[in-house]
Amino acid sequence: MRAAVLKAPRSIELDRSYPEPPMGPEDLKLRVDYTGICGSDLHVFAVEPPMMKMPVVLGHEFSAQVVEVGPEARGFEAGDRAVGLIYPSCGRCEYCAQGDFTLCDLRAVSINERNGSFAEFITVPARQLFLVPSGTPADEAAMIEPVSVAVHAIRRSRLSVGERAVVFGGGPLGLLIMKLAQLGGADRVALVEPAAGRLELARRYGADLVLDPADEIHGQIMDATGGRGADVVFEVSGNGRAFAAASKLTRKQGRMVVVAVYEGRDIPYNPNRFVSDEVDLIHSFWANAIDFRRAVNLVSSRKVDVRPLISARVGLDQMQSAMDGLIADRGSQSKILVACS
Ligand SMILES: [Zn+2]
Ligand SMILES: [Zn+2]
Repeated sequence: MRAAVLKAPRSIELDRSYPEPPMGPEDLKLRVDYTGICGSDLHVFAVEPPMMKMPVVLGHEFSAQVVEVGPEARGFEAGDRAVGLIYPSCGRCEYCAQGDFTLCDLRAVSINERNGSFAEFITVPARQLFLVPSGTPADEAAMIEPVSVAVHAIRRSRLSVGERAVVFGGGPLGLLIMKLAQLGGADRVALVEPAAGRLELARRYGADLVLDPADEIHGQIMDATGGRGADVVFEVSGNGRAFAAASKLTRKQGRMVVVAVYEGRDIPYNPNRFVSDEVDLIHSFWANAIDFRRAVNLVSSRKVDVRPLISARVGLDQMQSAMDGLIADRGSQSKILVACS
């Protein structure tokens, strides 16, 4: 099969005869329609020393069609469109039992076990897959995974009607968190992002207030929150300075939700601020079965319209240039979808 293979840091090659993934009895085999390029793919692509054994096929934000159903797989038939969590889980631990597949202990060892979805075919346990209604276009369905990550962050935040929120980071995930916070009844959501192109997209996508961190943002956010600070602040940028700013802009007894992966390890964490003002520091990782089911509904009904976030479509053979382009200027793109078959 065709697969875009990360051979070494910053080097992706199209392999036309990559081995097809093995299939277990509980698995479905799927032909991948589209896979979105995620910030975490970019991180693995660029970081040295390598985070993963190479060669490796990345990709986890897929929409795909079922082509084969394992003898013990339930709930799907050939031709169904599905989305879900790509990395295998054990299916037996307490986390798997509650649908939190991304917290399964197997996760760490299995991440290199099968190929990701920058490939023609993937195999995935049926329990980690979710049926997409047939009217949903394949490109929009590929956005269900990032929407599920945003749903998870909103649920973790305990956001409620009338609260005021700030989102640091205007990539696709930041914008989806902003949109879902508004749907969840936030009174006002501000978005902080340095790239002009992403700020403009945030404005078009409905942000109540867009701010460039190069400007004096502290006063503006304090003004917008009656001098108290935001009820909920989402840190989606992975930038240490944003982490510090976010922790200062969360109101007393508010919640700060960290959704990002950090490149640097020198994060300016000051526990005294969180203790003395009773700020809850919450972390949100990926998504679980509940988040996926909700994301399927939100995207297929277009209650969350993901189309404005799709900024480019490329082929598997164009991945090297797409990744290089994102490294050089991430701010000019939002979500790039890779057509995989
Ligand atoms: Zn992702
Ligand atoms: Zn498990």
